[in-house]
Amino acid sequence: MRIHKSGSGISDILTEGVLDNIKKLFQLALAATGIMFGYLMWGLFTGALSNFADKPNEARHALDVVNQVSNYLNVTLVVTLLTAILLYYEEAVFGFSLLAISAFLAYGFQFAIDLLFDSDAHKLTAGDASKALMHELFLMAIMIGAPGILMVLRSMGARFLEMREGDDLTNIQYGSAATKEKVPRAVLPVLSKCWQLPYCRSGVRKNCPIFLAKTKCWKERTGCMCDENILMLAMGGTEAQAPVNMTKEIGFVPIGDLLATDTKRANIATRVGPHGVRIPVNPNISDAQKRDRCRNCVIYNEHQRNKFSFFSVPVTLAVPVIVAFQFDNLRMLLTEALRTIDKIVAHLNLSGDAVSSGLTKEISGSMPIETILIVCLTLVLMTWAQRLLEYCVFKIKI
Ligand code: SF4
Ligand code: SF4
Repeated sequence: MRIHKSGSGISDILTEGVLDNIKKLFQLALAATGIMFGYLMWGLFTGALSNFADKPNEARHALDVVNQVSNYLNVTLVVTLLTAILLYYEEAVFGFSLLAISAFLAYGFQFAIDLLFDSDAHKLTAGDASKALMHELFLMAIMIGAPGILMVLRSMGARFLEMREGDDLTNIQYGSAATKEKVPRAVLPVLSKCWQLPYCRSGVRKNCPIFLAKTKCWKERTGCMCDENILMLAMGGTEAQAPVNMTKEIGFVPIGDLLATDTKRANIATRVGPHGVRIPVNPNISDAQKRDRCRNCVIYNEHQRNKFSFFSVPVTLAVPVIVAFQFDNLRMLLTEALRTIDKIVAHLNLSGDAVSSGLTKEISGSMPIETILIVCLTLVLMTWAQRLLEYCVFKIKI
């Protein structure tokens, strides 16, 4: 899924020809990265990097090869990442893919070796060349994880703007064709009344009972987008009349008399609302139907957008703040989770050994690996928090 509307991304700035060249470069760099990575993996899994008992020269040669290939690999990986960012940074899934690859290289790879090769695993990863390769994998995890973090954060920011400024997520039924007007805004947009939102029309607002009562239409369940009585009252009392000021002469009683008079003007049933202003009532539809009407109205959705803007930042940032304060507890939780995985794997493993217990200990004591895993989890949780807020505000509209 693209995370912003077309017309504002890098792909719209760069010409077709430039994008084609970037794509070719990406493909070449990816192929070179894949070949070198495959070569190193072949060396690791065939034992060619570790079977050097009493052969120091061959061991040194293997170490040199690993170091050299790793250097080239780092260069092609950087080119792959840079070109991939230019080509795919608008894809929401791109950042998460980088994070998943990073987490796999940092933790999952060695875990997979332990799982697949059981008691032979330590032989494969023994020796200087194998250790250099494992170090290279960790370096790759950082190189891939860093842009992954940035891409996920960018994706969250773009998603936020899309929710705030983009097309409506819902199928708007009321006021879909309404245009925005400049209105005096509330100091805190989340507390805006309907007449402080851009869909309130100045010609209607002036005499609108909702505005005169200083209330919100969605609270009174009647407003200018859904109830023609509001418009009729705002226009002076009858449908045929053009907007005019409210006067006794035209049959509409302005605010002074509205405070107490239970008159039915133009056969409009009213009740006393806030500040004593009479608000039209419609007994023919239920409260649930009125609520539903609001959910499909452009005014209420603008109110929801303001709500989303207000809560989005604290809700999303609450996750890293909690993680920072609970970092030690989370590390313990992570260790526990890894041990649990160990036990599950041991159950699945025919030999019954907890194959990755050494690895779990290694990871538990390794701050960088733990940090990478916790950062990845934090970003995923931040995204979930944002999606949950979107669901509450734009889907079920609470
Ligand atoms: S009901 Fe409509 S016209 Fe009246 S104050 Fe609210 S937005 Fe403005
Ligand atoms: S549908 Fe709801 S939000 Fe829209 S105008 Fe009517 S009362 Fe206001």
